[in-house]
Amino acid sequence: MTQTVAGVVPFTSIDFPGCLAAVLFFQGCPLRCPFCHNPELQPFPGPTGQKWEEIMEFLRGRIKRLDGVVFSGGEPLMAPEVVEKIQAVKELGFKVAIHTSGVYPERLREILPFIDWVGLDIKAPWDKYEELTGRPNMVEQVQKSLQILVESGVDFEARTTCDPRHLTPADTLKIAQGLHALGVKTYALQKYRTFDADKNPPSVTEIEAFFAQEALSPIQKFYPDLILR
Ligand code: SF4
Repeated sequence: MTQTVAGVVPFTSIDFPGCLAAVLFFQGCPLRCPFCHNPELQPFPGPTGQKWEEIMEFLRGRIKRLDGVVFSGGEPLMAPEVVEKIQAVKELGFKVAIHTSGVYPERLREILPFIDWVGLDIKAPWDKYEELTGRPNMVEQVQKSLQILVESGVDFEARTTCDPRHLTPADTLKIAQGLHALGVKTYALQKYRTFDADKNPPSVTEIEAFFAQEALSPIQKFYPDLILR
């Protein structure tokens, strides 16, 4: 198999609700979000990576020490033989979660029977999707993924990272309304985290504006249990 895993976080308690998990970061993403923290993961194939056999060896050593494994990225649904990879991890006894942008609905449908939890990133209100993903025609794909998830009954969360350089609190309200209309039950707002390579980071005040009660209250009418992180 090809080298598609660019990195591994061996232990996390925050990326897979209710599970102690390892995270596998898969190389490759079809989107070009202007706020991407991991642009080095966008090209496919990437410059470096670990062989899948090495990942499996690492996971065998974590049996009974971890509950689950998160397939993240990049976009893990771009990975070759992703269904087989997920099945192989399940066969070791782990629960499996996936973090996805939802742009591959049919691949999502294919893997769902083996998935315990999905975190689906909603980048923007539908009318700003092209601007904030750098790619046209993604809205239909993402909406289809949401429909597949809602109908599947698999536990999932839609979530938005609040980058004030690209989104406003009015945008997050619009997103929440759109998700509610599609039957999405769980929504989370995530604070934008600045990082070293960020040339023009937003201020803490701008980031916190999304989490002020006057911004949250209208969203909580749709999502009383809105998750904040
Ligand atoms: S979907 Fe994620 S990995 Fe892909 S470009 Fe956007 S932020 Fe980066």
